[in-house]
Amino acid sequence: MDNEALIDALKAIVGANAVVTAHEDMEPYLHEPRGLFHGTTRAIVRPGSTEEVAAVMRLAQEHGIAVVPQGGNTGLVGGQTPEANHPAIILSLQRLDRIREVDVLTDTMTVDAGVTLLKAQDAASAVDRLFPLSLASEGSCTIGGNIATNAGGTAVLAYGNMRDLVLGLEVVLADGRVLNGLGKLRKDNTGYDLKSLFIGSEGTLGIVTGAVLKLFPLPRQRVTVFCGMPSPEAAVALLAKIKSEIGASLTTFEFMSRFGLELVLRHAPGTRDPLADAHPWYALIELSSQIEGDLDARFEHCLGAAFEEGLVADAALAASLDQRQDLWKLREALSEVQGREGGSIKHDVSVPIAAIPTLISEANTAVEALIPGVRPVPFGHLGDGNVHFNFSQPVGADKQAFLDRWDEVNALVHGVVLKLGGSISAEHGIGRLKRAALPRVKDPVAMDLMRSLKTALDPKNLLNPGVIL
Ligand code: FAD
Repeated sequence: MDNEALIDALKAIVGANAVVTAHEDMEPYLHEPRGLFHGTTRAIVRPGSTEEVAAVMRLAQEHGIAVVPQGGNTGLVGGQTPEANHPAIILSLQRLDRIREVDVLTDTMTVDAGVTLLKAQDAASAVDRLFPLSLASEGSCTIGGNIATNAGGTAVLAYGNMRDLVLGLEVVLADGRVLNGLGKLRKDNTGYDLKSLFIGSEGTLGIVTGAVLKLFPLPRQRVTVFCGMPSPEAAVALLAKIKSEIGASLTTFEFMSRFGLELVLRHAPGTRDPLADAHPWYALIELSSQIEGDLDARFEHCLGAAFEEGLVADAALAASLDQRQDLWKLREALSEVQGREGGSIKHDVSVPIAAIPTLISEANTAVEALIPGVRPVPFGHLGDGNVHFNFSQPVGADKQAFLDRWDEVNALVHGVVLKLGGSISAEHGIGRLKRAALPRVKDPVAMDLMRSLKTALDPKNLLNPGVIL
């Protein structure tokens, strides 16, 4: 099908205004946040309903047209960006942005896939409930994208990742059929759990158009603290201590190094070091409770004992909402500010929590030996064993020459991760970025099963070709 006929056919399905073809209007859909991939596309189609998504897929199936689903375009592995060697249309879900229903008695919310995470959170809090997924990109990323990437973020410790927060899914299949699985049931053992197949499939098995999400009671009390610590070992021990003494109230345990904090203080306007002295490591810890009570007193008691044991050197407790936001900004700004220091080679890895100190020391030693002067920036979700293990270029180095060593650095870090029983993608997915690495690290039988599933659901390889497999 030539492009003119394709565009006419798409316009006949979704209306002329919902097909984007002008070069300057297509550009924002073709750049991803890290600038690692720049895509090309035949057209961008913005359906306004599940039926229109299904009709686009029937057209694609009939004419063998590849389709790349896109939500908020905040993904970090290039999965939402079509490649030049797989000419595709981008199917943007952004117009599917309705909150379909909130069911307070069942504690569920049914939403369109293009609803932003922030809008879903707001809809939950409007009825005194919590939708707990929390990412720095929440103003732009969509529920469909969160499902397709099985997103994690800063509340996984207490509530799980996106897979744990989904009860039902509506999915348009490659051939245009609609799988209606929008059930609200917490118990349903009627055969295979099909929704789980699509969660984390990065748009390669079907297009998510709607979802039933779990809601939780809204916390009445929150305690937020920023701690200075001597070592990653102390951070892991502190995490275990808080779990033992305060248990389920622990919602967040994030960490960063002194160098990470310095980058934030240098480049993020309005930030300041909440502690009087510098410390090698920091943790942002948050506890929450559904009942107003003595959570702060219990936590202060636990921290006091941690001081005595040498796990914590200093701590700043947020005394107001503004102070809480200031502490969170120190963590949330860290992803973005690394770009101001030149090239950054990234990893999103996980290991058993107890192995985090070994991961940090072994990977630092290996990469520093390869590139003298490299500046490690390990940070992230320590409570989930998930480290965003990034390396900033040496001061004064050539950015491109540094980035050209991406694969070599990845090989060293991933080698340590695999030795420790970890994963090369904790929460961002495989996308195009890690596709080549996947067969080297994944069990061969698992790879075979994944290929069989892809062939069964998308025999013509039209859904996001070149992603994951
Ligand atoms: P997109 O980027 O548009 O797409 C991502 C993938 O999902 C692509 O493969 C795409 O084809 C597919 N897809 C999108 N929508 C659908 C759909 N409806 N049906 C089928 N497939 C679809 N991620 C984390 O997990 N934890 C974090 O803490 C985190 N922090 C971030 C912070 C920043 C500043 C940024 C920029 C990103 C961060 N991310 C994080 C990554 C990103 O926000 C998540 O991966 C998010 O879930 C992507 O949602 P999206 O709507 O932007 O999806």
